[in-house]
Amino acid sequence: MHEVTQKVMDHVRQVDPGQVEFIQAVTSFMNSIDKLIEDIPQLVYHKVLDRVVEPERVVMFRVPWFDDDGQLQLNRGFRVQMNSAIGPYKGGLRLHPSVNLSILKFLAFEQTFKNSLTGLPMGGGKGGSDFNPKGKSDGEVMRFCQSFMTELSRHIGEDTDVPAGDIGVGGREIGYMFGQYKRMNNKFVGILTGKGMSYGGSYIRPEATGYGLVYLCAAMLEAQGKTYDGKTCLVSGSGNVAQYTTEKLNQMGAKVISMSDSSGVLIDPSGIDEKKLAYVKTLKNVRRGRIAEYAQQYKEATYIPHNGQRDYNPLWEVKADYAFPSATQNEINAKDARNLVANGIQLIGEGANMPTTLEADDIFTDAGVLQAPSKAANAGGVAVSGLEMSQNSGRLQWSAQTVDQQLQGIMKNIYVSIDAAAEKYSTKNNFIDGANIAGFLKVSEAMIAQGYV
Ligand code: GLU
Repeated sequence: MHEVTQKVMDHVRQVDPGQVEFIQAVTSFMNSIDKLIEDIPQLVYHKVLDRVVEPERVVMFRVPWFDDDGQLQLNRGFRVQMNSAIGPYKGGLRLHPSVNLSILKFLAFEQTFKNSLTGLPMGGGKGGSDFNPKGKSDGEVMRFCQSFMTELSRHIGEDTDVPAGDIGVGGREIGYMFGQYKRMNNKFVGILTGKGMSYGGSYIRPEATGYGLVYLCAAMLEAQGKTYDGKTCLVSGSGNVAQYTTEKLNQMGAKVISMSDSSGVLIDPSGIDEKKLAYVKTLKNVRRGRIAEYAQQYKEATYIPHNGQRDYNPLWEVKADYAFPSATQNEINAKDARNLVANGIQLIGEGANMPTTLEADDIFTDAGVLQAPSKAANAGGVAVSGLEMSQNSGRLQWSAQTVDQQLQGIMKNIYVSIDAAAEKYSTKNNFIDGANIAGFLKVSEAMIAQGYV
């Protein structure tokens, strides 16, 4: 490793040794940037690498709310404003009991380069809370969202920071937060994306992450002379990303044979077609989780209880052509990666952010498996968020067809730029290096241009 990259890595490990997810994300990034550092001496003079790992600002706050029994509950809220070199901070809000500063810093760091790859002017940010939406009533979720926004509202703005959804935050939560912001500020402005269609949302935003993932991987496969036609696919997760990935894979002629949630894995060898997918969507709308009921409804399916009690995930033991991890970070460890490789997996398309451990990445690279890293592969969601911001500032609403066409163009461009960066600075088809380098080049140029800030 170059001594400058090594020094930054040592510093990150030393100042926040407990931030394991953040350290992991920075390690993967620095391994790629190392290949470029000799070519761009300004990176060193301007201490770009030292600055890029330090958030511009972190806000951490108390979120008090009343549950249905009238008891006061407390959660911790965060907003990490990582980097505004190329545009206002942009990135989702995650509501999940695992949320902490390390996870949000890793997500905000990844978001910075992902947003850069979209070609749209968006900086990187991420926020959320350790609030657990599972089992909460609608009233409890509303009171939490209102309290969360009461503090968050002073830190965001349509030209400052524009949050959106992530795990645990969908249309319902965005609606409650938007309503609270409007009430507090008496302003109807695009301070959040992922809004409902009736109040400034964009068509295709709900579908965008999953559709974009399938479009990007299509470009990657095409370059290898491959398609989706007749291919068997594994999808993990059953939330927004997993649902629309499955929908688009079905439309492109593939067969999706799995989904999962926090309590288990569903395998349906006959394929999760449109009708069965509609059943999953209904189940998820009624109450979060519980895809176990699918296996009672459709007898050809098997449900394997799994909530992390094994040191491998049974989903990744199933033989398939392509895999689309769309649940959460580090859901594929070294053992899972070995299982996938042993069964001849050809492509890993990352719907979730950083779904693979560093060891798993190495196993895939060594085995020559194509890997579409999350910051490129799932950028369709934030790309359409960027289009939603444009529509809001122009006071317009584009048709679904217009937005979908733009999304397809953006994903194609991302493929072209990560492919070119991989070839120029690393090795052909090393899309992890390609995405890190292509995303970073624009951010670093803007940081250098703007002086020491
Ligand atoms: N949470 C999504 C992501 O990881 C979307 C963020 C956004 O739309 O701002 O990219």
